[in-house]
Amino acid sequence: MLKVGDKVALELGGEAEILEILGSGGQGTVYRAKHSGKDYALKMYFAHKLRSPDIFRENLSRLTEEKVDSAFVMPLMLTEKTDGSFGFLMELVPPEYKPFSDVLNAKVKLSGLYSVVNSAIKITSAFRALHNSGKSYQDLNDGGFFIRPTDGDVLICDCDNIAPYGEHLGIAGKPGYMAPEIVRGEKAPDKFTDRYSLAVVLFRLLLRGDPLEGGKVLKSVCLTEEAERRHYGFEPLFVYDPVDDSNRPVRGVHNNTIKFWQIMPDYIKEAFEFSFTTGLNEPQKRLIEKQWLDLLIRLRGDITACSCGSQNFLSAMKTDEERKLICTCGNHYAKPLSLVGEKSRILLFDGAKVFDENVKVLAEVVRNKKNPALWGLKNLTENEWNCTLPNGTEKNVDPESAAPIFVGTSICIGNEKFTIED
Ligand SMILES: [Zn+2]
Repeated sequence: MLKVGDKVALELGGEAEILEILGSGGQGTVYRAKHSGKDYALKMYFAHKLRSPDIFRENLSRLTEEKVDSAFVMPLMLTEKTDGSFGFLMELVPPEYKPFSDVLNAKVKLSGLYSVVNSAIKITSAFRALHNSGKSYQDLNDGGFFIRPTDGDVLICDCDNIAPYGEHLGIAGKPGYMAPEIVRGEKAPDKFTDRYSLAVVLFRLLLRGDPLEGGKVLKSVCLTEEAERRHYGFEPLFVYDPVDDSNRPVRGVHNNTIKFWQIMPDYIKEAFEFSFTTGLNEPQKRLIEKQWLDLLIRLRGDITACSCGSQNFLSAMKTDEERKLICTCGNHYAKPLSLVGEKSRILLFDGAKVFDENVKVLAEVVRNKKNPALWGLKNLTENEWNCTLPNGTEKNVDPESAAPIFVGTSICIGNEKFTIED
């Protein structure tokens, strides 16, 4: 272990001075360290815990030259070897990003459904970029993810295990996130096992529970390693398996999963059902990231809100005989207008937001200050928009100004043309 004030030499010259211990895990210790006047995170390994330290170091060295997706917090610089041990510098995670595990155990609350769905989109598109570059993450679990509660932006740490397909760094993975074939010891991690883990992460994020932990698992009084191998490897059973209901979520234990499953649109339920039935045993058939992305972008376009502030997914809501949406507060309200683009659609309720693919906000629905009955779409980009009103009049909308929301209006935002539809 290093002490505060110790200095570690870096491979390319210079050194890093230890300022504070941030945390310790199975593989090593993470410190806050200063290098060239800037603070970084420094991870130092317990070299004896690595199966083949030289191969591991070589892979790390390659990773310092990679740029996969801005969500990944990649190794930046390696240290020299000291007493057989070594490590690397990476950027610190800013304090406004909170551990995914704290979101899952409800210590941290995401600001609303946009943040929940945005974080799912960010995680999925980061893994899409990673797999497209021919690599796998190998150890996908809640420990390495950090989410900004205000908008769902995501940072992914623990990137030191990222490796090209076919290379296995000896990382076993976290129980509950590992694909069944890894739990059974039949396979090493690859993109197909990453895809299984991604489905688990998305299920946990959207349903706040474990896809394989229901009544059947609860019956094993304590989850021994043998029981864990059975439930996650040899006899995995989805909690909402359409044929076998013996592992359903249990009221009082899995309340979140029961509650959120009810409000999920069918296309999301079907994707999970497929992932945890066919996808359990046929790795090649697992949903690819692009399929999840399309579903999640559709899900974001299904977010609606009542004037009481309660948000819901439109396609899972009950309606009355006038086809008005029924909120849990008792209010009945008309379905909001839609802003329909080539790649996405958004429901235009009061406070609704339009995002780009990096979950940056481009526009927000606002009400006119003088006449609250008039709704507008406020331009939050740095460029003016071209807007065509229903009567054919062309209008430019400057940054910080708003385009009027009328059915038939079309607006160009960035490269995408949107139309307001009923
Ligand atoms: Zn309401």
